[in-house]
Amino acid sequence: MALERTLSIIKPDATKRNITGRINAMFEEAGLRIVAQKRTRLTLEQAQAFYDVHAERSFYGELCEYMSSGPVVVQVLEGENAVALNREIMGATNPANAGEGTVRKEMGLNVQENSVHGSDSPETAAREISFFFGEVEIIA
Ligand code: ADP
Ligand code: MG
Repeated sequence: MALERTLSIIKPDATKRNITGRINAMFEEAGLRIVAQKRTRLTLEQAQAFYDVHAERSFYGELCEYMSSGPVVVQVLEGENAVALNREIMGATNPANAGEGTVRKEMGLNVQENSVHGSDSPETAAREISFFFGEVEIIA
């Protein structure tokens, strides 16, 4: 077991429905700690840069438009095995396939508007955290 940090984003579908607190309660109750947090709105260019790895995917254009369509809450979650634990708490990408009790099952609307982002590996987490936060902004 290792203390890790991961990047989490509460997506525009969730900020629009005013459920950021309910989502963060699910993270906290599962043992993750929010050690950095800000509400912001991504420009289209920021969303394109953040999701650069998906540039060749068919859904890239609509994904970037959606992610810049409203406020998001970007945050760093810390805990034992935080990267994998956060992915477990989130559930599968498509809420229709997500397990009972996961954020995407409980809160997600569809495969695009699935309420939360979470880094998929420790290496991705380091890159994604530095996209939004400087080390001095992360207060454990
Ligand atoms: P995850 O967020 O579970 O890591 P991906 O990295 O594969 O999933 O995709 C990034 C995001 O792109 C998803 O969270 C979702 O918002 C969107 N997305 C993924 N697949 C599709 C799809 N088939 N159609 C539309 N949007 C999609
Ligand atoms: Mg992903």
